[in-house]
Amino acid sequence: MVRTRFAPSPTGYLHIGGLRTALYAYLFAKKHGGKFILRIEDTDRTREVAGAVDIIISALDKAGIRYDEGPIVGGDHGPYIQSERKDIYLKYAKQLLESGDAYCCFCSKERLSDIHEHGATKYDKHCLRLSKAEVQERIARGEPYVIRQNIPETGNSTYHDEVFGDVTVDFSDLEDNILIKSDGMPTYNFANVIDDHLMGITHCIRGVEYLMSTPKYNLLYDALGWERPVYIHLQPIMRDAQHKLSKRDGDAGFEDFLRKGFLPHAIVNYIALLGWNPKNNREKLSMDELIDLFSIEGLQKSSSIFDETKMRWLNSLYVKEMSAYEFHAAALPFYAEYCPDKNIDYEYLSELLQPRVEILTDIKERSAFLDAFDSFDTELFVNKKWKTDVDMARRLIDSCIKATEAEDLNAALEAVAEAEGLKKGQVMWIYRIALTGAAATPGGGAEMIKLFGKAEALRRLSHVKEILKA
Ligand code: GLU
Repeated sequence: MVRTRFAPSPTGYLHIGGLRTALYAYLFAKKHGGKFILRIEDTDRTREVAGAVDIIISALDKAGIRYDEGPIVGGDHGPYIQSERKDIYLKYAKQLLESGDAYCCFCSKERLSDIHEHGATKYDKHCLRLSKAEVQERIARGEPYVIRQNIPETGNSTYHDEVFGDVTVDFSDLEDNILIKSDGMPTYNFANVIDDHLMGITHCIRGVEYLMSTPKYNLLYDALGWERPVYIHLQPIMRDAQHKLSKRDGDAGFEDFLRKGFLPHAIVNYIALLGWNPKNNREKLSMDELIDLFSIEGLQKSSSIFDETKMRWLNSLYVKEMSAYEFHAAALPFYAEYCPDKNIDYEYLSELLQPRVEILTDIKERSAFLDAFDSFDTELFVNKKWKTDVDMARRLIDSCIKATEAEDLNAALEAVAEAEGLKKGQVMWIYRIALTGAAATPGGGAEMIKLFGKAEALRRLSHVKEILKA
């Protein structure tokens, strides 16, 4: 059975690229009726951020990526948090020490920086030469030490990656990495192998930054007599041709995009297509369709550039498709932020705005008209296209008030236009400006009356009448 995993470090943040890695691993597992596992890689205690695991779990949940095994839900291969698996790593580290595939290293920080200063590009295997007795004695004395992988000094290793093809690395380019740190915690270099094997991972899907170090991990699989997983390395998501989309630019986090008013599934849909081609020219795909279409063959070897405008467009398709209830519920927090406590029908506002926003933060600009009346500017009556002006507004204001009382506003305004020898559009312009004080509104006079209520509309028009008199 196919088993894949997402193995984030709890940094307090889920990068959009990480989310995409999780998504591909999830899609692949589900496509093949397999299991998707969440494993928390928290062995670097210095990078720990409080609440970071919750952020990951909640982000995956919002994205609709459900894991079958992992923290909270458990499973047969737990614990799924690496810091709770310390003894497991130590057991296998001991096995590697005995077989000679690993060794204890007592070198101090000073010695290590010293050899680097003298031109060494990697660790010089100094402690490999210590006798067994000396190692035992120094451990017994309580000297701090790490356990390093013993990588052959010559030769090379080739493995097959599903995206990049055959990858060959010379052992001379690899360093005897630390497997177990002096605090007894494993490094990524060790824990990923132990866990992927013990958790029965069949396909290892991760970032391309691990492409060249994978031969090191393969040596560990071989030394422990374990089968290697299938490797699928993914290109990063780029901001432009030269730069990765990075946290530093503040535009790479899944939560950042949610705050910007993107819908979770629109983000998922967009990033699914960044690096993978479904080969059917369709761009709007549900999670079920993504699962159905996903294939390793569609993964791109080249990196892809993130295009927020495109994601915005895709998001607008999802916004249009929401039910009135869904849109209103999603818009409420944005009303609370941009236009709270207005005496208007907010549900109707949602009805007016839904076809006019691409992402939910567009509500800010689209609802700005609600504040316009408070700083009414009569110059807005002057419109070149419609050939309207302030005098015309003054002449029409009483008719506008009367039309508001009429059963059918549009018919009433049409009648005004006819009586005055004006175009309907001219009267409509004057009317809408008088009612809102805003040049751009989501809807015309009739919609605005529905939004404010007739009493408020009349109050506004009388107020404008006063202003125009002055
Ligand atoms: N913790 C690693 C990372 O966040 C996981 C890499 C992997 O998937 O093996 O980069």
